[in-house]
Amino acid sequence: MNDSPMRFVPPEILSRKSYTPGFQPKNDKDLIKLNTNENPYPPSPSVTQSVIEETKCLQLYPEPFSLKLRRLIAEKQNLKEDQVIIGNGSDDILNLCVRAFSDNERSVGMLNPSYSLYPTLTSLQRSSLHFIDFSDDQFDLPTEKIISSGVNLFFLTNPHAPSGVAFDQEKIAELAKRINAILVVDEAYADFANDSAIRLLSDAENLIVTRTFSKSYSLAGSRVGYAVASLELIDVLDSVREVYNLDRMSQAAAYAALKDQEYFEECLQKILVERQRAYEFFISLGWRTTESQANFIFTEPVNKEGQTGKAIAQSLFQHLERNDIYVRYFPNHRLTQSKIRISIGTKEQMTTLFQNIKQWHDERS
Ligand code: PMP
Repeated sequence: MNDSPMRFVPPEILSRKSYTPGFQPKNDKDLIKLNTNENPYPPSPSVTQSVIEETKCLQLYPEPFSLKLRRLIAEKQNLKEDQVIIGNGSDDILNLCVRAFSDNERSVGMLNPSYSLYPTLTSLQRSSLHFIDFSDDQFDLPTEKIISSGVNLFFLTNPHAPSGVAFDQEKIAELAKRINAILVVDEAYADFANDSAIRLLSDAENLIVTRTFSKSYSLAGSRVGYAVASLELIDVLDSVREVYNLDRMSQAAAYAALKDQEYFEECLQKILVERQRAYEFFISLGWRTTESQANFIFTEPVNKEGQTGKAIAQSLFQHLERNDIYVRYFPNHRLTQSKIRISIGTKEQMTTLFQNIKQWHDERS
């Protein structure tokens, strides 16, 4: 008789692929980490103070609705507080969307490539997933294909990852109007972009916009995200949320970070300056590079012989890794396999990166 405890695990769970996060080095003292789109700057000093203060109350459960934070976000976005929900990272919110709006008869759709957590969440819910392909690496929004996909829930990453391309808000408004589904616009990188879908909310009752404190507010380690939508949709998401989904310290950290807009702007501007410098560097090398509206840049390495492709991108990725510079390489998709994605770091980090890239270019064929 099979007495392994594995016999209790449903086959769908055994066969599913779990999410693979970007490599998190154990000792990050001397290396340059440009692989998971974190902010290179620490959070606002007021975050530290607030978190320390909050530790004095850790014997008490956190406020279950993260009310103070909801109110502050609502005020900033000009919305009602009941139009905001807080999550344990925006990953938590994305999970709530899958939980609330999909099942084995209601499928989920996503652009391919985009954020690889969506398939993980969808398979946990045992819902089916529709991948919508881009025609080419211009990454134009395939609106008609999305509309005709027949899904109940669609995840649109905007700015898109890993390309950094931002889709036009007019196109998103049209998509929201014509798609017969819940449209989640995942705006993890929107603070680095020129526009946001939040202003479309008043005309689109099927729209949910998700945001995170992980990137622009330097709080990846704290896990805070949020969504804004109509009162009805937020109510549904709240009904499937874990009660105490955000701990006291994270609530306090995000509140303090959002209050300190001066520090936020200062870090943001430094990142935008370095993004532009990176763009100009790659263009000067003659590498095809997207005009990113995120805190990363996506570029196609060219070697000394003028060649591009999978082996070339891999060679640069490995050269950088050997020199303790971590970037991201996605070998498994035709539109990403000849490119690398680089998170924008500090001026010093980017200068070292450029030196290493020049060295790779000059030494290797
Ligand atoms: N959406 C996208 C497109 C992302 O790249 C990420 C970060 N990996 C997230 C959501 C999740 O962010 P958070 O840290 O808020 O869970």
